[in-house]
Amino acid sequence: MSEPSPPASSGAPAAQALFDSPLAHAVAAAGVGLWEVDLETGREWWNDTTLAMYGLPAGSVAPTRAEWRERFVHPDDLARLRATAEEFERTGGAYAAEYRIRRAGSGEVRWLVSRSAFTLGQRGRVLGVTLDVTDRHSAERRARQAEAQLGHAARQVGFGFGLREPGGERGEWSPELKQLWGLAPDAPTPQRDEIFAFIVPGDRERVRQRLYTPIEPGGLSEYSFDVLRVDDGQRRTLTTRAYTEYDDEGRPGRTFFAVIDTTELLAREREIAELLDVQQMAAEAAGIGTWDRDALTGVDRWSPECARILGEPEDAPPLSREAYLALVHDDDRAHVRSVWARADGGDVPLDFEFRFVRRDGQVRWVRSRGRVELDASGRVVRRRGVIFDITERRQAEAERHARELAERSNAAKTEFLSRMSHELRTPLNAVLGFAQLMTLDSADPLSPRQRERLGHVQTAGWHLLALVNDVLDLARIEARKAPMQPEAVALSAAVTECIAMIAPKAGEAGVAVHWEGPALEPHEVWADPTRLRQLLLNLLSNGVKYNRRGGWVRVGAQRRDGMAVVSVRDSGLGIAAARVDQLFQPFSRAGREASGIEGTGLGLALVKLLVEQMGGAVEVDSTEGAGSEFRLVLPLPPGLGGLPVPVTPWPLE
Ligand code: ADP
Repeated sequence: MSEPSPPASSGAPAAQALFDSPLAHAVAAAGVGLWEVDLETGREWWNDTTLAMYGLPAGSVAPTRAEWRERFVHPDDLARLRATAEEFERTGGAYAAEYRIRRAGSGEVRWLVSRSAFTLGQRGRVLGVTLDVTDRHSAERRARQAEAQLGHAARQVGFGFGLREPGGERGEWSPELKQLWGLAPDAPTPQRDEIFAFIVPGDRERVRQRLYTPIEPGGLSEYSFDVLRVDDGQRRTLTTRAYTEYDDEGRPGRTFFAVIDTTELLAREREIAELLDVQQMAAEAAGIGTWDRDALTGVDRWSPECARILGEPEDAPPLSREAYLALVHDDDRAHVRSVWARADGGDVPLDFEFRFVRRDGQVRWVRSRGRVELDASGRVVRRRGVIFDITERRQAEAERHARELAERSNAAKTEFLSRMSHELRTPLNAVLGFAQLMTLDSADPLSPRQRERLGHVQTAGWHLLALVNDVLDLARIEARKAPMQPEAVALSAAVTECIAMIAPKAGEAGVAVHWEGPALEPHEVWADPTRLRQLLLNLLSNGVKYNRRGGWVRVGAQRRDGMAVVSVRDSGLGIAAARVDQLFQPFSRAGREASGIEGTGLGLALVKLLVEQMGGAVEVDSTEGAGSEFRLVLPLPPGLGGLPVPVTPWPLE
């Protein structure tokens, strides 16, 4: 894989800006390799010229310091290089070394000279240059050339050097350093106090303090400040790093300092930091956790959100891969392992869902998306990505699935019921028809006993037909194959009609049925007229059936919360409180199975379905032994839209 270089988020090279800049081309043209190393992690960034010196393809990931020593540096030069590097890291002075390397591929040995000029920031990063000086015949010429090129590179890259004698006010600045301040390269070096005029006022006091504070033996003084350049007045940020030589008796000697123009670098770092901040905020807000595992350095990171999703304390260190895997749900572990293995084996993006068992036992569905970076030899360099919690989504999916299943099986049940009822009705009609024929046939009269028995057949047949019709009706209404056609129905007329229809039965049972409503409001309800009559008849017939001789049934009406309420009260048997919940279930007779009162247990189920499909509801109150009240709550007709104006205009609600 040829990832050009890791992105800034992981501590990208400060030199990256230089590597990418047009200046870098000038440096490359001069044959100068640029590199940067993070002393803490040993991670390196090389520009293409450096890579070419080592026979590595442009854009490839640089080896770490350890790898560099192991793979490239000539064994005879290792000890010397290490000593020089240690010295440099300790004192921070200028680093210069000449050594041999073996090129990748060809194995050809080359002589290189590296100089490192400067360490950036507080993070122990070294920026340096490398030249190939293999051509030994002209070693001298090359060395001079190297000096010149280094100077050239210093100018291009924007760094300068200087020194000051102990106690001296005037130091010696390299031409590049003078240029950094906007002075001519051959201008006299300014005195210590003169430079303050060009430093922005806000930074002056701080710089003065640093400048006049002696630097401890072995210590380094590093700081940044803004200057207004002498020639063009442009504001630039300079970063300086200085150390003081000490002699054997501990007396301070010369102070050396290197200065680099870090305006763009710092601005870019700031920009990146801000960008990252914003991204982090967005990720947190969206509930996205980020994670990053650096295989080279072994440094793992995760965002607080990531820890939160996995149920770990926000400040807990990231879980190791093993600890993480151990918390993956048993049934998903093999899947996670195989996805990881595939991603590590090539650049297949990571994207998978699995269950994670938090330490408190809670199971969460998590989606993980990420990328694995490999180096040229296919080794894993880094893994990083995001995770987010998808438990709610998964639950919603599961619920939807269950609902669909239930709906499908319900539809199948309804379909079965309606077919069955249909198939039953035809032979049943034949049975009833022939039974009637037999009772009417004067040519072949029945004996009184036969007549009585046939009467039983007919009663049972009519009962069965009523049942089949109700089942068919119920199935059709449930499947919404009998759409309601609501309109404004005059309540008084509908109720009176139904009372007339029930009158013979009520008379037989000795129950008085009244309509209390002629003068009551509302006068109209919004309902399917046929279905409304069916509703009322069902309730009235129950009121009569489950009553006692001399009892009554009263129908009333009132208005409530913008709805019409039609009540059917009776002085009957009432219903046991424990049975009330079963009333509206099909085939439930609420304990009256063996009462001798005829019924199928479908009436109230139909009432509930019908009234709900008309946008209403049914309510019940009952006291066992005292009576019941069933209430139909129905919509009122809309007052507008060309509908007949109600008899009495109702107040606006
Ligand atoms: P059915 O009357 O055919 O049994 P319904 O669905 O109409 O079926 O009623 C279900 C049950 O509710 C009845 O069996 C009866 O036990 C009870 N019930 C219904 N209406 C009344 C009422 N007005 N008074 C007492 N019990 C009633």
